[in-house]
Amino acid sequence: MLLAENLAAVQSRIAAACGRSGRDPAEVTLLAVSKNHPAEAVAEAVGLGLTTFGENRVQEAKAKIPLSPSRARWHFIGHLQSNKARDAVALFGTIESVDSLALAEELQKQAEKQAKTLQVLLEVNVSGESSKFGWVPDRLMESLGAFDALPRLELHGLMTIAPYATDAENVRPVFRRLRELRDRCADRLGAPLPVLSMGMSGDLEVAIEEGSTIVRVGTALFGPRPKGVRGTAEE
Ligand SMILES: *Cc1c(COP(=O)(O)O)cnc(C)c1O
Repeated sequence: MLLAENLAAVQSRIAAACGRSGRDPAEVTLLAVSKNHPAEAVAEAVGLGLTTFGENRVQEAKAKIPLSPSRARWHFIGHLQSNKARDAVALFGTIESVDSLALAEELQKQAEKQAKTLQVLLEVNVSGESSKFGWVPDRLMESLGAFDALPRLELHGLMTIAPYATDAENVRPVFRRLRELRDRCADRLGAPLPVLSMGMSGDLEVAIEEGSTIVRVGTALFGPRPKGVRGTAEE
């Protein structure tokens, strides 16, 4: 089976990168990015032991999640507009792509209404590409204090999407900067921020070497997506 083979290959890439950097593979969550693939693919992946899935569009997730095994855990990884926050809170346990205070406040409001606690990561635009969503690092440092007033959001760490690179080595500084920013944010908060979501099909080794705890992998598991979307799809 193709997915089984792909999964074995991805797991051995993760293990090799952990080996090189003296890390325990159990520290790295493989987030299976199922966007543009049907619920059947999710069911097959759950059958192979995958537990955590990523989607980048609320509409697609709303159709897919109810058809998927209930033990699957879901992370939202796309740009989220405030008017979709209610559905996102209902569907996802983790929002990795919180990219503004306005969105965080809306998520807090919806989580309060739904009596839920939401795990969140803050998406950082480390590379400063204008096509990317996410916090500018300085602005993030200034805004951190505001999260004290959002008790329904559990701030676990940071997420970034590296620029596309044919040689993953070229994006190592992006991953390193995210880790350093995480350390500064944790200092400022006086609380650990253990999660770093960084690394995708093409660059997961470098991300793990730089401290990633979640690699978000689509293509290397499920094959090419029908639509050639990468990381910047808008809701
Ligand atoms: C699509 C997507 C991924 C997965 O990308 P692949 O290159 O297919 O592994 C990871 N992160 C985000 C935010 C995405 O939108």
